Amino acid sequence: MNELTGLTASELVRLIKGKRASCVEVAQATLDWIAKTDKSFHSFLSVAENEVREQARRVDQSVARNEDPGMLAGVPIAIKDNMLVKGWPTTCSSKILSQYTATYDATVVSHLRSEGAILLGRTNMDEFAMGSSTENSALGPTRNPWNAECIPGGSSGGSAAAVAARMATLAIGSDTGGSIRQPASLCGVLGMKPTYGRVSRFGLVAFASSLDQIGPFARSAEDCALLLKVLSGHDPKDSTSMNVDVPDFTAGLQGDIQGLRIGLPKECFSDGLHSEVKSALEAACKELERLGAKLIEISLPHSSFALAVYYILAPCEASSNLARFDGVRYGLRSAEAGTLVEMYERSRDEGFGPEVKRRIMLGTYALSSGYYDAYYTKAQKVRTLIKQDFAKAFENVDAILTPTAPTPAFKIGEKTDDPLQMYLSDVFTIPCNLAGLPGVSIPCGFSSGKLPIGLQLLGRPFEESVLLKIAHHYLTAAPWHKAAPPFCAEAN
Ligand code: GLN
Repeated sequence: MNELTGLTASELVRLIKGKRASCVEVAQATLDWIAKTDKSFHSFLSVAENEVREQARRVDQSVARNEDPGMLAGVPIAIKDNMLVKGWPTTCSSKILSQYTATYDATVVSHLRSEGAILLGRTNMDEFAMGSSTENSALGPTRNPWNAECIPGGSSGGSAAAVAARMATLAIGSDTGGSIRQPASLCGVLGMKPTYGRVSRFGLVAFASSLDQIGPFARSAEDCALLLKVLSGHDPKDSTSMNVDVPDFTAGLQGDIQGLRIGLPKECFSDGLHSEVKSALEAACKELERLGAKLIEISLPHSSFALAVYYILAPCEASSNLARFDGVRYGLRSAEAGTLVEMYERSRDEGFGPEVKRRIMLGTYALSSGYYDAYYTKAQKVRTLIKQDFAKAFENVDAILTPTAPTPAFKIGEKTDDPLQMYLSDVFTIPCNLAGLPGVSIPCGFSSGKLPIGLQLLGRPFEESVLLKIAHHYLTAAPWHKAAPPFCAEAN
């Protein structure tokens, strides 16, 4: 790590705008650090070296001309490989998209470009964002910067690891059931899933459209607020994007949290919780109380059904969304096929990995006539009950605190043979997606094995500011987010 790659985005922007560092210098330091480091972790699928230097030169020029270079001037950012960047391959870490090149920018990518961010490259992920460990990538797993024998979480594991290892100052990911928050927690960084509809999904390859949301990875609450501001906003190209005000999330960090009511769902703090996760959370609760927050026990009685509901609805939506990968329009086409039907079958058989096939089968089954009402309709009804539980809880509290993940990072290979165990990694993050709420994971300690632990804050729709403010105050008092993986310091 060098001095520049260790800085936060807010610090970098101040330096660059103040002409105390050049973007080219920052970009080169980042590229050098990636070249040195990513061999051990495999966060990136590709790094756009020449483009990085070119983008940096342009921002330097606008600084030199005293133009406004943008809110993220010169900040290196990594992009999960399911968001389109014009001219870059977008593979969703799947063989089926191995030959696909994006023909336009996702809306979030356009926003990043217009604010002067430097797009570094594409990050590894579980194939089509299905997974919790990044082991379902067709291109090989990503490793956790805190311990290379462990998974970084998933599905946005490449983005989380890149930010944790200081290879990217910021990153974006997508979160359908926890894919930003869970890897953020396991890698010791901040990760936020905004309210459904806050950020445009245009140009995000769809997994489960009623749950998917793009969001930031960062190393401070200030950076998370800054990036969220850039990503947010109404987009006529996404019919589920909401036309609501985008507050100044950075200004919202100020003020105190005196008297703020934080709910602790009793269902999340049961005896089954990993003891070290539990004690880290208890310590965090004490700290929040000391800062003036009021902790209140609450109940979310239907949350125990969330995992089951998710594993019906998400595969149903995925089976429909993934029907477009037919060997005709995108990427891979089997060379073996003689007839049209054979081409569909063989391209899909060769192109999709085992977890994606499992989801397509689950979804197709649950949507088939005769089973539709018993599974899909029933799951939608329970989804409503889960949503109502939250609405009721938010009558009495301003935010809800839970663990992000039930355990710290586990070993590579530990859960690959047991899909149900893998699915349980998202037990605490999934309810938030089903209810469309904002959620953030922030670092709150370490296990005895020196692996990061995260806590999750959930808020009312469009109240990301409340969560960021709590995060900011907590981390100012307990700066867990400042810890870097040991190899970063050694390499300094
Ligand atoms: N791990 C969950 C799944 O496999 C969530 C993934 C996500 O949020 N994209 O579906």
